[in-house]
Amino acid sequence: ATPTAVMVATGVGANHGVLVKGGDALERAQNVKYVIFDKTGTLTQGKATVTSTKIFSGIDLGEFLTLVASAEASSEHPLAKAIMDYAFHFHFFGKLPSSKDDIKKRKQEIFSQWLLEVADFAALPGKGVQCLINGKKILVGNRTLITENGINIPEEAESFLVDLELNAKTGVLVAYDSELIGLMGMTDPLKREAVVVVEGLKKMGIYPVMVTGDNWRTAHAVAKEVGIEDVRAEVMPAGKADIIRSLQKDGSVVAMVGDGINDSPALAAADVGMAIGAGTDIAIEAADYVLVRNNLEDVITAIDLSRKTFSRIR
Ligand code: ADP
Ligand code: MG
Repeated sequence: ATPTAVMVATGVGANHGVLVKGGDALERAQNVKYVIFDKTGTLTQGKATVTSTKIFSGIDLGEFLTLVASAEASSEHPLAKAIMDYAFHFHFFGKLPSSKDDIKKRKQEIFSQWLLEVADFAALPGKGVQCLINGKKILVGNRTLITENGINIPEEAESFLVDLELNAKTGVLVAYDSELIGLMGMTDPLKREAVVVVEGLKKMGIYPVMVTGDNWRTAHAVAKEVGIEDVRAEVMPAGKADIIRSLQKDGSVVAMVGDGINDSPALAAADVGMAIGAGTDIAIEAADYVLVRNNLEDVITAIDLSRKTFSRIR
């Protein structure tokens, strides 16, 4: 392709909300063999909601939610945001907001009144959060986080979790003062176009793969819904880049589509990194493409554009 053709293609992409950083990335996309999708926020909407709670200790739902929301208040994870919303509604249901900004402002005011004081907050990528409340350690996250801290997961909790996971939900575990005090079931719906895009890629002779830090049961249930057979679950952030490199070993051209801070090493390692426009700045920086519309159809648009631009000189 001539420099002019590349320039034209870049412009056509931009008109469709597909921003490409340079002619090399534009050229590489034509030969993509694998498209690796992050699950949360990429295949799914990244707008989780709490669907159920289960409490094991003597505390009531209000106290439980106050503890969990306090621990999650500084997290930027979509699950944390969903938990905050849920707690907010529980405590203040019935007060109708006048606008979105109003909700936001009131949330901040109200949260600052009833959230507990938190010390030593730490976000643990791929696992959850931990901090101290009233001098005692609280952990909110997945099984790994709980068991790593030497906390037992009773039979009753485990079967509740498995049930959630088989239904494509993510179980969030909460431990306080070295004891599992409750669980929350969370759901994050697929993006509307996800199934069609996965199907479309297969028709183009491209293999879709899903990678996620989420547990394997939830991951497989979601993958089945979206039509992806190759699933890599319970992957820590650094592991996502390792998966890309292993697929590249035979010379295959690998694309990665992601939105999170966790995805940035993989986006950088991929031959073609595509960041979802609604994603974090770090992901956008690491990527070759930015899909501004937050629509997965643009993965296909990007590959098509490359194929059309470079096919004439092949
Ligand atoms: P993904 O790869 O699907 O985007 P992450 O790597 O961000 O997922 O997280 C993996 C898992 O770690 C989540 O499914 C969740 O169980 C747990 N987790 C991470 N952060 C949080 C948090 N702030 N609150 C609760 N759970 C969390
Ligand atoms: Mg994500």
